Amino acid sequence: VADRVSKETRSKIMRSIQSKDTEPEVIVRKILTGLGYRYRLHKKDLPGRPDIVFIGRKKAIFINGCFWHMHEGCVYAQMPESAFWKKKLTDNKARDKRAATALEERGWLSTTIWECELKNRQNVIETLINFLGPPTR
Ligand SMILES: [Zn+2]
Repeated sequence: VADRVSKETRSKIMRSIQSKDTEPEVIVRKILTGLGYRYRLHKKDLPGRPDIVFIGRKKAIFINGCFWHMHEGCVYAQMPESAFWKKKLTDNKARDKRAATALEERGWLSTTIWECELKNRQNVIETLINFLGPPTR
């Protein structure tokens, strides 16, 4: 898929993605809306309270910060030395795994979009389409 925005807009987008106050979830929602998907937010009665859900498709998306959810092999997910943080972050990761399994047991599929992946929007778009299937309409 070719980039439909100018170089200037692209660099603005990249800067906004990297800026601290840009919420990754908002970026993913904008991408999904742009692609024509219809979704719901924070389904509280589902395991792990996924950030974005597609009820008809029974698919859920988690948008995770690399550090807080210990993205494997990611430069932003360096495990701190402190025992307190080690436990907290290891617990977070274990909770994420349990949520994905619990969703599967209910017949739901889930995927995770990592914060660092948003630097390459094209890849995120492909990941979303592969996971969700084509948008209706
Ligand atoms: Zn990462």
